[in-house]
Amino acid sequence: MLIVMNHTATQADVDAIAEVVKEMGFRAEPIPGSERTAIGVLGNQGYVDDTKILDMSGVQRVIHVSKPYKLVSRDFHPEDTIVNVAGVKVGQGCRPVVVGGPCAVESEEQIIKTALFVRSCGADMLRGGAFKPRTGPHSFQGLREEGLKLLAKAGQESGLPIVTEVMSPDNVGLVAEYADLLQVGARNMQNFDLLRELGRIRKPVLLKRGMSATVEEFLAAAEYILAEGNDQVILCERGIRTFETATRNTLDLSVVPLIKEMSHLPILVDPSHATGKRSLVAPMAKAALVSGADGVLVEVHPEPEKALSDGPQSLTFAGFEQLMRDISKLTEFLGYR
Ligand code: PEP
Ligand code: MN
Repeated sequence: MLIVMNHTATQADVDAIAEVVKEMGFRAEPIPGSERTAIGVLGNQGYVDDTKILDMSGVQRVIHVSKPYKLVSRDFHPEDTIVNVAGVKVGQGCRPVVVGGPCAVESEEQIIKTALFVRSCGADMLRGGAFKPRTGPHSFQGLREEGLKLLAKAGQESGLPIVTEVMSPDNVGLVAEYADLLQVGARNMQNFDLLRELGRIRKPVLLKRGMSATVEEFLAAAEYILAEGNDQVILCERGIRTFETATRNTLDLSVVPLIKEMSHLPILVDPSHATGKRSLVAPMAKAALVSGADGVLVEVHPEPEKALSDGPQSLTFAGFEQLMRDISKLTEFLGYR
């Protein structure tokens, strides 16, 4: 960390800061310049909390060299992490995975029909929301525990691992009884109590990027889970909010290769929530795989026009089947068998 002083800062200001840095257990190295002094903070093992320093007399700004994450960074963990979801491997070097299923579990017939269909097309996992984080309280909120039971049944009948969202720390235990991969939705990316609780279980977690989260905030959120001892974390880019309103969100595909450079964790892409529009889902799913994503998460519904949530972005069975055929050719082209 580098503390940059105002050009009016006095020697007493610099000395006071050096004292506080020492109290924090680090060394302070003043670097006098022609216009201002900077103070290097040495001896820290990682990110240093700057709250005390920022408020001190003479301080102009603080420049962090260490990031607010360490366990998720490639610097400290150069090898790629492979996450094992009930036998399905996700990560660099593994064949990209496809997670398919409806936005929400609506009925036994709907989820079982979808599970069997996506499996027959070659999907690797089944998704479906039981606890739904809807923007407004009057929209369908999910079947909750009943939805989890139906998902488990669909998982058993199809043989597919199941992925479902957990919205509150209180429900982590319950959802973990049923799910093979526990999803943190975009709206909960910075629900730190939820992240901590997920760090204490022994099941993999799918962490979606918050709709206004920077890459640094996204990785720092993942750090909460790893810091509690759970390193089985898969990231997911699902579009961010920009000035553009023609699509539901803006798919930030550049984060896929960027996060691969910065972190060892696998990353999936969700083109359904990123675009909000059925016709854009398959093109962006394919683009995601070309950009290096470890897989895609795609919404599929037997009757999208009757879906209780996200119908307009859900693929039809025919659309999903076509996408899976294209993905199969694409993964072969990319060198996977
Ligand atoms: C979902 O995947 O069901 C979902 C609600 O997505 P997001 O959190 O990305 O909006
Ligand atoms: Mn959805």
